Amino acid sequence: MATNSNEIDNNFLTLSLSFPPPPVVAPPPPPPPPPSSRRPRKRKRTLKSETIPPPYPWATNHRAKVHSLNMLRLNQISTITGEVQCRRCDRKYEIGFDLCDKFAQIGSFILANKELMHQRAPSIWMNPIYLNCKFCEQENSVKPIIASKKKSINWVFLLLGQFIGCCTLDQLKYFCKHNEIHRTGAKDRVLYQTYLSLCRQLDNTGPFYY
Ligand SMILES: [Zn+2]
Repeated sequence: MATNSNEIDNNFLTLSLSFPPPPVVAPPPPPPPPPSSRRPRKRKRTLKSETIPPPYPWATNHRAKVHSLNMLRLNQISTITGEVQCRRCDRKYEIGFDLCDKFAQIGSFILANKELMHQRAPSIWMNPIYLNCKFCEQENSVKPIIASKKKSINWVFLLLGQFIGCCTLDQLKYFCKHNEIHRTGAKDRVLYQTYLSLCRQLDNTGPFYY
């Protein structure tokens, strides 16, 4: 008697269990598809081509990568130009830096101060000194205009003017991302890495390794 009733109970259990599962199992499948079908779509949207049209004659067709000094010499590029704007009179104009002179100055500065920097940008890099305005003659007033599109940022110009500190942390991280540089930490660390990486790209025989 007891065995029979147990068997019956078990049968009922089995039956009653075999019915509800389909509805229970049915709802979960819908949720998983959306995430899995969304993810590839997102990846496709952010998929970018590996190369870009070089934004400047001294830039390469890779994001945040510039030509070496040797290549620039071969191409007879000796002046690096960029757009600037006066904070006082708002005038926009273009200025040029002598590539060799300016780069030599930066190289000497790094060589003399690297040990003291402890892989952090010094104050002069964090707080750039701006130029004097050629129109209103206001001192320390002319800032570089930084391209709104990160792939169009004029990195060599910013380096030569020691203006890279004008970039936001986000722009610096973009540079580091495309140059396989560890890009976490405070702005002074990321800025230091950006300066040294740009110098290495121009001259990989200089004192620009950490
Ligand atoms: Zn001005």
